[in-house]
Amino acid sequence: MNRMINADLHCHSVISDGTLTPEALAERAKANGVELWALTDHDEVGGQDRAMAAARAHGLPYLTGTEISVTFAQQTVHIVGLGFDPHNTALVQGLRRTRGGRSERAQEMSDGLAKVGIKNAYEGALQYVGNPELISRTHFARHLVETRVCSDTSEVFRKYLTEGKPGYVPHRWARLQEAVQWITEAGGIAVIAHPARYGFTPNEEYALFSEFKTHGGRGVEVVTGSHSSQEAVRYAETALEFDLVASRGSDFHSPDESRIDLGTLPLLPGQLTPVWELLADRIQ
Ligand code: AMP
Ligand code: MN
Ligand code: MN
Ligand code: MN
Repeated sequence: MNRMINADLHCHSVISDGTLTPEALAERAKANGVELWALTDHDEVGGQDRAMAAARAHGLPYLTGTEISVTFAQQTVHIVGLGFDPHNTALVQGLRRTRGGRSERAQEMSDGLAKVGIKNAYEGALQYVGNPELISRTHFARHLVETRVCSDTSEVFRKYLTEGKPGYVPHRWARLQEAVQWITEAGGIAVIAHPARYGFTPNEEYALFSEFKTHGGRGVEVVTGSHSSQEAVRYAETALEFDLVASRGSDFHSPDESRIDLGTLPLLPGQLTPVWELLADRIQ
């Protein structure tokens, strides 16, 4: 496979916190010129069969995907898995366990919001949920925009849903080692998602990359909708330093909310090895 293709290996459907179905995403990816696609719903592989079938119908090469929530150094880190067997038992069970507790967390978030006068946020957020096991902060953000508490979702996160704010509830997700092993043992490749988003100190970031490699992690997102062009340059260097392959993905969630559409990012820098070179035999 050509190294410099328009691959988009990170996006979300209604199975997690996106607003489009897997079928609508496949159509949009094809229309935007994507040449290799992966749907990476949070902590879920329930949309994989649909995404794969829709991709096939459009003649769009496809890799299986997910984005696993991990707690590392007291912070939430996302690990993308690509090219695994979506029916692998340990992976499916591990993801189910990772999703567990989201409903209780959401109730507590709602209690916190009620204390600052925002009533019934849980019920409001539920109206946006496509998968009962996957209520996320994004669904609360949509509800607070719709009810005009805030004017956009980033304002909701800034004022209500991030650490120290009334609707924030700390949560224990999967361990780094577990997430990497579930992906790897199901035949896939684990990739650190959008590393610039975490706000780690240099020491914490070094620990993340080192431990990730120790557990069998192989890749890092370099070009993503969450990185500026300077951050892409910086993590291209990190990829080389840690001998990791590079991934590329928009992290598209919604036509109304996402800054970057499917298939519209710059290409990967040429000196990097793309993750899809290691996954050639996994492309469907
Ligand atoms: P959760 O898994 O419930 O903690 O929700 C995490 C999701 O919230 C991420 O995957 C993003 O889609 C969304 N998110 C996180 N931070 C922000 C932000 N600052 N602005 C908009 N969306 C955000
Ligand atoms: Mn999301
Ligand atoms: Mn993420
Ligand atoms: Mn994502």
